[in-house]
Amino acid sequence: MRYCVSQADAKTETRCSACGTEGRPVERQTVLHHVKHEHLERVSDEAFRFCGDQQCPVVYYGDREIRFSVDEMRELVGAKATGDARPICYCFGFTEGDAREEIVHTGKSTIPATVSGLIKAGRCACEVRNPSGACCLGEVNRTVKRLTAERETSMKETLTPADDCCAR
Ligand SMILES: [Zn+2]
Repeated sequence: MRYCVSQADAKTETRCSACGTEGRPVERQTVLHHVKHEHLERVSDEAFRFCGDQQCPVVYYGDREIRFSVDEMRELVGAKATGDARPICYCFGFTEGDAREEIVHTGKSTIPATVSGLIKAGRCACEVRNPSGACCLGEVNRTVKRLTAERETSMKETLTPADDCCAR
């Protein structure tokens, strides 16, 4: 059974040893895709998981001892980063900044529709391109929702004094 890497046994550690979060299982192929080439020889035949905790520096951990941290990744990991450079869709290259710019100017974002259209057309490869191994669309939708709410809050704050003036 040496080559059967995805089969879990009773002793398998499913939690990240750094933060205790239960990680999402990822394919070895995903780990190979994201780990910098100088660390590739450490990618063993362990069953790997992705730690999605934003504060935790560990990105991938094996069920025995291997750990890979954010500094050992080729790209910025969306789940661990904040700010406009944060990737929200790895397949089509959208960042949080792209969504913010649209939302600030138009109040909405076309990115979720664009991404779901491309997924329907079979042009995504999230399970490998996204470090979390999950489909990008969930994170795209969450980010657009948060940025839209942030814009509404900031508009209310700037409108309040003007409303007070008009009421008098
Ligand atoms: Zn962790």
